[in-house]
Amino acid sequence: MPEETCIFCKIVKGTEESYKLYRDDDVLVILDKYPVSRGHLLVLTSRHFEGVQDVEPKLLAKAWLVASALAAIYRKELGAGGVNVVTNSGRPAGQVIFHFHIHVIPRWNSIETSFWGSRGVITEKEAQSVISMLEPYINNYVTGYLRRGLS
Ligand SMILES: [Zn+2]
Repeated sequence: MPEETCIFCKIVKGTEESYKLYRDDDVLVILDKYPVSRGHLLVLTSRHFEGVQDVEPKLLAKAWLVASALAAIYRKELGAGGVNVVTNSGRPAGQVIFHFHIHVIPRWNSIETSFWGSRGVITEKEAQSVISMLEPYINNYVTGYLRRGLS
């Protein structure tokens, strides 16, 4: 069963560590362990689905609303010049972990010529600084987007 070996299922269950930013019954927001940019986040569904094509529509809508709320925080509150909000489905598209997730990648300054760039492991200090940067906004934005989007 994929759920038993899937790293994101383990993160959801809490048997694998991650830097968590937000969670409710359906979705979890964590920091990407190998960030493309400062503040690279992942929105995952709590339940295991392989890719975007497999997720139930209402849950899919919720995950994208959460991703949009995160993009809004970066653009409206934190001064990011751009944000990539993207999901990879299938190995040829760059999917590495086969549990549906949306990348939210803030772009802070120059125009990126290499989409994924070079990716090193995030440090504890960096992770904590990203969490501190987002914490004042996260609940208001996420609940606001979900309220307006799912009503
Ligand atoms: Zn999984």
